[in-house]
Amino acid sequence: MLKKYDYLVVGAGFSGATIAERLASKGKKVLVIDQRNHVGGNCHDRIDRIGYVQEYGPHIFHTSDKEVWDYISQFTSWHPYRHKVLADINGKLVPLPFNLNSIKICFDDLQYKNYKDLLIKKYGLNKRISVFELMHDKNKDVRKLGDFIYSNIFFNYTKKQWDIDPEKMERSVLDRVPVVVNDIDAYFNDEYQGIPEQGYSKIIEKMLKDCDVHLETDFFGCRDVVSYDFLIFTGRIDSFFGFSEGEILYRNIEFRFDTQKNPFQKNSVINYPSLHYPYTRITEFNKFLNIKSTESVIAKEYPSWEKGFVAYPVQTRENLELIGMYRKKADKLKNIFFAGRLAEGRYLDMDKAIRSSLDLFEKLG
Ligand code: UDP
Repeated sequence: MLKKYDYLVVGAGFSGATIAERLASKGKKVLVIDQRNHVGGNCHDRIDRIGYVQEYGPHIFHTSDKEVWDYISQFTSWHPYRHKVLADINGKLVPLPFNLNSIKICFDDLQYKNYKDLLIKKYGLNKRISVFELMHDKNKDVRKLGDFIYSNIFFNYTKKQWDIDPEKMERSVLDRVPVVVNDIDAYFNDEYQGIPEQGYSKIIEKMLKDCDVHLETDFFGCRDVVSYDFLIFTGRIDSFFGFSEGEILYRNIEFRFDTQKNPFQKNSVINYPSLHYPYTRITEFNKFLNIKSTESVIAKEYPSWEKGFVAYPVQTRENLELIGMYRKKADKLKNIFFAGRLAEGRYLDMDKAIRSSLDLFEKLG
């Protein structure tokens, strides 16, 4: 006889796993399906002979949301790790977000002192400023610095990453990487940061231990043969509705992996904003867990519309309007809920995806 579930959860990434775990903890019968042959969604990773690999690119857990940190820490211990990024500007490696150390590397002593004094006086020590704010500052020198950072760090990287005129991107995307008025090299300023000691996939496996999990299972192929009361969908929202309003733009990333002698590069992640490089960044994964094997897996990232896997909902006005249309349709449905980066169309980091699912769980009562 067909097994009956209270909930069908489509997608075994953090969004699906969080809602599934919460529901199962309250005694609900939950079936989780995923079309891939593994759990973890784009956070999927493995630890093998050569060391650590994140199959879908660099994922560093960082949050200021203590409730999310406490929740996810039930399923893992943490390797203490505070993320740093270097960017290659004409062969010089400078810290990102662009900070006082980056200014020192890119300019002579006199210019450095001038920019430093100006930024501290105008904005204050430790302030995080949008590059756009610098570019429109009243002071000519501050504008010049803003233009330098925009053209060397943001403009070409953003063109490569999104294949869209950077002016058309929502500012919030570029503002994820502010300019910082101090000399602390740190990509994030969140209080809680780390890499799960056994990897992300192990977290998700633990989260799903009280659920039935079927991998390599497509929702559209099985929706009519599974019996359930409620549906949580974490896939592409436009595919759910048969693309009735048109296709939402999602940006793909193709990863090209290679095994190199350990250590390969100076830092876990090095960004290549220049158009001289067809990729956006190179990650050396062993550095996340400080693994000292003789070899090391690295990956170059090539953004694409067709190759690779779906990674980001594109944050332009037109695309967000289209996403909004689908979300209105979604709101009208009974007993069907949408969660996560692909279904909500939001640029969610892991902690925000977990937060969103925790909130959905509260809503479901
Ligand atoms: N960005 C950039 N140059 C960089 C790093 C980031 O122009 O060296 C811009 C780019 O538009 C990117 C956005 O800032 O998509 C957000 O960067 P983040 O590192 O947060 O991207 P993610 O790690 O989510 O891919």
